[in-house]
Amino acid sequence: MAMKKNAKRNNKNDYDDDYKFKKIRKKACPLCTDKNVVLDYKNPEQLRKFINERGKILPRRATGACSKHQRDITTAVNRSRNIALLPYSEN
Ligand SMILES: [Zn+2]
Repeated sequence: MAMKKNAKRNNKNDYDDDYKFKKIRKKACPLCTDKNVVLDYKNPEQLRKFINERGKILPRRATGACSKHQRDITTAVNRSRNIALLPYSEN
């Protein structure tokens, strides 16, 4: 009786763990995976990928970047905004 109950609970936990694992699976940093890509603040086309339609910089959970590269992205976007290649805000 008790064994049956445990087995049932274990199965449920396994299922939950799999589900959570799939949901929180992190994608790799786009700048670490491709070493040839160099962030350039004079290239707004490249930086457009890291801002949303309102002109805000996307958070790390959206860009998938590591902390080092997210910092590089922020610096590049801010430099680009400063020389008016990217907007501070849109709409
Ligand atoms: Zn990285």
